[in-house]
Amino acid sequence: MSSFPSTASQVLVVGSVALDSVETPFGKAEDVLGGSGTYFSSSASHFAPVQLVGVVGDDYPVHLLQPLADRGVDLAGLEKVSGSSFRWRGRYRHDLNSAETLETHLGVFSNFRPNIPAQFRKAPFVFLANIDPRLQLQVLEQVEKPRLVACDTMNFWIESRRPELIELLGHVDLITLNDGEARQLTEHTNLVQAARWILDKGPKHVLIKKGEHGAFMFTRESVFFAPAYPLESVFDPTGAGDSFAGGFIGSLAASGDLSDASMRRAVVVGSAMGSFAVEKFSNRRLLDVTRAEIDARVQEFRRLVAFDEVLTA
Ligand code: AMP
Repeated sequence: MSSFPSTASQVLVVGSVALDSVETPFGKAEDVLGGSGTYFSSSASHFAPVQLVGVVGDDYPVHLLQPLADRGVDLAGLEKVSGSSFRWRGRYRHDLNSAETLETHLGVFSNFRPNIPAQFRKAPFVFLANIDPRLQLQVLEQVEKPRLVACDTMNFWIESRRPELIELLGHVDLITLNDGEARQLTEHTNLVQAARWILDKGPKHVLIKKGEHGAFMFTRESVFFAPAYPLESVFDPTGAGDSFAGGFIGSLAASGDLSDASMRRAVVVGSAMGSFAVEKFSNRRLLDVTRAEIDARVQEFRRLVAFDEVLTA
């Protein structure tokens, strides 16, 4: 049972539920729980009630999702259909900031049309995690006046569904993407110009993640920057971006406050969740991290950037 009584903080996420095979300099994992929707839910469920919509094939080991249900994630919108599950195979070499996609097998995602259950349609916070932008647009046709709609994307969709992605930008309040994706989407190498290009298409907030180099939040009026937590060992970077988004949206949903100060705090919470995600393979660390550990890490961020201003006469 969810420990969050209020529907005012509900977070609806639509994204991939995958089987990932990942190779890093520290080891390999085959067919482990992955997907943008999965990582996002694992992270956001620490802050707010989460409703996950997605699809898996009949080959999917659904017991892998039990820990998400145990965290209170509502899986009523997760369809199981005949066919093979979405699979992603990726590799990280010594630069742990960028994943190399070796294989993307869409499987049941090819014919998926998201059907948002009636009880999910009024969710005030909607996150369109990294999936086909056509599906992201279909979700927006079914939800009723959310307070905040955010989306994510990646190079795969920037290359194959560019017009639909640009159309989507006109319907979201906020987008998260990494620096390489921002450059690829906008064809600007300068990130400030890239953010401006995206702001001109519709979103009021553009969050550009730079892996171990932190994250920027751009609006028309301001720029905010949060560093990444300096971890001594990064085990598997997969899912860091989705976990960042989960912490970010979860924090906003929990407070219900969309002011600039709250958005800035949410960037730091997102950065903290991204840093936990990379400590173990798959979503394992996100499942065992405690609220006290999360709060302590958020405080670490404050210390990381605190300094005394020296006033000159
Ligand atoms: P990230 O947070 O960016 O590291 O996202 C990693 C997750 O994205 C992995 O668990 C993959 O299963 C998932 N993923 C990879 N490629 C795609 C894609 N083209 N569409 C949706 N999800 C994907």
